[in-house]
Amino acid sequence: MEEYTVIDREKLENYLNVVHPRVCEAVDLDAVLFNMRSMHRSLGEPTKLCAVIKTDGYGMGAVPIAHLLEKEDYVWGMATATCEEAYILRESGIKKPILILGYTFPETYEELVLKGIRPAVFRFDQLEALDEAAAKLRREGYDITAPIHIAVDTGMSRIGIKPDDGGAEFVREALGKENLTVEGIFTHFARADEADLSDARNKKSSFADFVERVEKENRVRIPIHHCANSASIIDMPEAGMDMARAGITIYGMWPSDETSKNKVAIKPVMSLHSHIVFIKELEKGTPISYGGTYVTDRYSRIATIPVGYGDGYPRSLSGKGYVLIHGKKAPILGRVCMDQFMVDVTDIHEAAEGDDVTLIGRDYDEVITIEELGDLSGRFNYELSCDINHRVPRVYIHNEGEFQS
Ligand SMILES: *Cc1c(COP(=O)(O)O)cnc(C)c1O
Repeated sequence: MEEYTVIDREKLENYLNVVHPRVCEAVDLDAVLFNMRSMHRSLGEPTKLCAVIKTDGYGMGAVPIAHLLEKEDYVWGMATATCEEAYILRESGIKKPILILGYTFPETYEELVLKGIRPAVFRFDQLEALDEAAAKLRREGYDITAPIHIAVDTGMSRIGIKPDDGGAEFVREALGKENLTVEGIFTHFARADEADLSDARNKKSSFADFVERVEKENRVRIPIHHCANSASIIDMPEAGMDMARAGITIYGMWPSDETSKNKVAIKPVMSLHSHIVFIKELEKGTPISYGGTYVTDRYSRIATIPVGYGDGYPRSLSGKGYVLIHGKKAPILGRVCMDQFMVDVTDIHEAAEGDDVTLIGRDYDEVITIEELGDLSGRFNYELSCDINHRVPRVYIHNEGEFQS
């Protein structure tokens, strides 16, 4: 079972200073709850939420976030991208349904079925293999069928059946398999995070029309229709259907610049902290870091921060990014190394060795958001968040009872 540390907010400062002074990612579970409840309120009671916690919860920790969200009754379950991610959740005690959003290989089907993990299906051979896996388990005495979610491709051209006659044939075949239970049918929007939502609206209609058609043809109601991602939860709540799949917004980030920022309230979840480990004074004309790409243009005070691209802090921030020290911006000078980088504190007179450094998050009145760091480093916010890797210890903040919905 995966271990993780949960502390009260008041203990955070001490924890950052004493337990993981080199670098630590703080994940605010109260903010996660706030964001989930906020989305739920906006969608309305009948629409359940599926918490998308792929890539270890967008880098913030799938297990602690799943444990937190499993207790929320409007949360249907969790979604991952791979079976290994789903197994980790099961091993950590997660009981709610887990949906795998991507392709799953037939070699895994027995284990998936045994563990109540729902694969997305869109190939005929998946239906055969899953039916066979469930049949085998039944012969061995398990009283189970394989619950599946049918993926429909309305415009991503990634995975899924087409919403046409061939697709309808696939759904008929799935419904006819003795050992399968068609629990859900879903699609994923390619363009829900744009100011112009006409494409997403069309795709939603073609999905809804297709579902209506196959349900009529087969005289069934597939229990869970779902199509909304974070962007549509915010800007197309009418696409909520039976369930919406929330991803990036759980983690307090926006799907894009173009999504509305005033419809669903979300709070940032993650912050990244370090300390100054060395300060030196350099004459004008002194090169800094590999390649000497930066040369001081004045007498300078330069601080060394013990974090680098080996932690997933982007090397492309070389000469572009900044950190916060005493609530002020300290620009990165020269190249970011694997484990260290240098910032200019010439104008931050109070800066001293051992002082707090904020790489992501708030420091007094200044804030560095993941979105901003993404832009500065030429990365996507989703990507930057996933990239902060396992060399960086995580700490989870959760003040029981503090949050009120
Ligand atoms: C990743 C993913 C989501 C969540 O997307 P966000 O933009 O993070 O909300 C939902 N559905 C599918 C199929 C996905 O792959």
